[in-house]
Amino acid sequence: MSTEKKQKLDEIHVGNEVFVPMISEEQLQKRLAELGKQISDDYQGKLPIFIGVLNGSFLFMADLVKNVTVNCEIDFMKLSSYGEEKISSGKVKMLKELNADINDRHIIIVEDIVDTGLSISYIEKLLEPYTPASVKVCSLLLKPESLKYQVKIDYIGFEIPNKFVIGYGLDYAQKYRNLRSIYVLSE
Ligand code: 5GP
Repeated sequence: MSTEKKQKLDEIHVGNEVFVPMISEEQLQKRLAELGKQISDDYQGKLPIFIGVLNGSFLFMADLVKNVTVNCEIDFMKLSSYGEEKISSGKVKMLKELNADINDRHIIIVEDIVDTGLSISYIEKLLEPYTPASVKVCSLLLKPESLKYQVKIDYIGFEIPNKFVIGYGLDYAQKYRNLRSIYVLSE
């Protein structure tokens, strides 16, 4: 089968829109092994708590912690920002709070993607009343061109262009989160 034909088979059609492969399962897993090693080295002798931002981070979080070799804990928080849209509404709401006590803890916030940076800056504000031992941010994807808020992302899986992506946790109107790799909206 020709490459051109195969590429077509890999496309995902949603109404008039077409998504094409961007980051393969193999590339994701290879990068996650590297990130897991880097985090494990950085947190030697510590007991970090990974805080996943739902829903988008659920697959990334699961695969990331499988690559972490130090003892760790996990928790999740849930924000809402995009609704059914492909562009940020600029508003964030807290839908599920943390269960863990984060005072004196080493926290690693785990995001699927940092776009404008609004969600991360909102989470950093939420943490202000607490006294964690340290706070770092780990995002699978970063769109550097669309950053509007000053945020520091400590661990980045991949930098991508300012285009809408789906799969591996990332949704389009709540669907396609179960794809094993990442697809981008084709122009
Ligand atoms: P930010 O607050 O940084 O603007 O956006 C972060 C959130 O917006 C992410 O957690 C994700 O839910 C959503 N988001 C941003 N860009 C994309 C994208 O390209 N695709 C999808 N599916 N969600 C995105």
